[in-house]
Amino acid sequence: MKKLYYILGTSLLCLCIIFLRLYGLNHQPNQISLKQSFDQEKVVPIVVIGGGSAGLAAGIYGARTNFYTLVITGKEPGGQLGGTTYVDNMPGMFHQLGPDIMNNMRKQAAECGAQFLDETVKSVEFKQHRNPTTNKIENDILIETHEGSKFHALTLIIATGASPRKLGIPGEEEYWGHGVTTCAICDAAFHKGNDVIVIGGGDSAAEEAKQLAPHAKTVTICVRKDAMRASGAMQKQINNISNISIMYNTEVKEILGDDEKVTQVALFNNKTNTTSSKNVSGVFLAIGHEPNTDLFEPTLKTDQNHYLILKGRTQETSWPGVFAAGDVADPIYKQAVIAAGEGAKAAIEARNYLDEEGFNDAKARELASNYFVPPSADRSLIRELHKVDSSKEFYEFVQGDTPLVVDFYTDYCPSCLQMLPLVEQVASEYGDKLTVVKCDASVLEDIASKYNVKTVPALIAFKDGKEISRSQKALNKQEINDFFATVII
Ligand code: NDP
Repeated sequence: MKKLYYILGTSLLCLCIIFLRLYGLNHQPNQISLKQSFDQEKVVPIVVIGGGSAGLAAGIYGARTNFYTLVITGKEPGGQLGGTTYVDNMPGMFHQLGPDIMNNMRKQAAECGAQFLDETVKSVEFKQHRNPTTNKIENDILIETHEGSKFHALTLIIATGASPRKLGIPGEEEYWGHGVTTCAICDAAFHKGNDVIVIGGGDSAAEEAKQLAPHAKTVTICVRKDAMRASGAMQKQINNISNISIMYNTEVKEILGDDEKVTQVALFNNKTNTTSSKNVSGVFLAIGHEPNTDLFEPTLKTDQNHYLILKGRTQETSWPGVFAAGDVADPIYKQAVIAAGEGAKAAIEARNYLDEEGFNDAKARELASNYFVPPSADRSLIRELHKVDSSKEFYEFVQGDTPLVVDFYTDYCPSCLQMLPLVEQVASEYGDKLTVVKCDASVLEDIASKYNVKTVPALIAFKDGKEISRSQKALNKQEINDFFATVII
């Protein structure tokens, strides 16, 4: 009998140990420690993904903790404020241009010591391994960019924001970039003297209408309910602009056009149940945003609308050492000032987490030689793109002997400004095989109109005097390289 008890007891103990080990791997985040050994691998104590209000504020606060902080800016630097005109609701910054505010925030973060990596994240791997020496479970966050950078993060602050929502109606995809867009500040200049429509009833719709009004003949805001939800201050501003009008209870059911561009929208009045149509050259969507969480789902917990779920009043996500700030985790307020505050909070919490994990100044010094440092492009090897200044010059390039790529941009388009240095880098690698020039589409209007450039950034490739291909969206370095490669075949 004693023997039986002994066998039963030992078996139970073994089962408990096996259970605890398995359970511990998956369910004891508090007992998960930082990855200790990096050998040849690169590491960063605080990584921030996102270059908007939340990301830049996290960069400022992260750098001020004295721990090496890296901000990865992505394709839309400056976030949503980077594409706004005057901002009147950032405390202490009354009536300043959104891009100016964001440039200053970036400068401030850099002054504080944050490093910037102007690349786009391809993948984030969240892993946990048992360290055979210490027998502890170690947290490992591996980040890789489309441009080829690869490093481990000891802590991660997700500030990837949100992207404009689409309608999903017929014609939307077909005419995307041919009159349908979400960036009024980028594309307003292509609708000079035309009638345009803005869809949505929030602050973004009001903001887009304000940006379009100086260029377009008329701007109609199409609101599906009988009232706008934009703030009173915003509504007052648009009511004072003579060429802006509002159609309430109106839904856009279809976007129509010819072979090249948008010409009309089909409308439905949901109060009178009547249909109508309106001739327009541009359709500007401002119907809210979707959080950018694709890189993190399903590992990190999200709600039914894909917003990252945070713990209580903290910025902590469901993974230890991973924090989130701004619109990516904010289904309610979505304000730049709140995003910035959350970025600051997330950086303080990242610092506290590192402290609790025993990552101190001595450990930081020990790891310093393993820090990932953004590759600084050798500017001497990079040729600045020639800016085409006249239509005559443009046609001379098109008729040239080598294949040509023209980078169409405007000065106010944040993603154009982000993409330009990448285009320059890739163009330099192609040498004389390919001619690459840039063209301000808001200045050379006749060229933009002839080649039907209705959105920027746009790359158009020419061979033997004819257009052979085009891309009408922000591209990362790899995508630019792929586009160029098809041109010289
Ligand atoms: P909002 O969510 O505030 O508004 C979205 C609008 O789009 C609503 O009017 C909504 O209609 C409408 N909409 C949604 N889906 C559809 C659809 N399928 N068809 C037609 N209409 C649709 O988003 P915003 O992007 O405007 O603003 C997001 C946040 O950013 C807000 O908190 C806003 O205050 C802030 N913001 C602030 C600015 C500033 O202060 N300067 C500028 C821009 C944004 P409905 O009302 O019927 O739901």
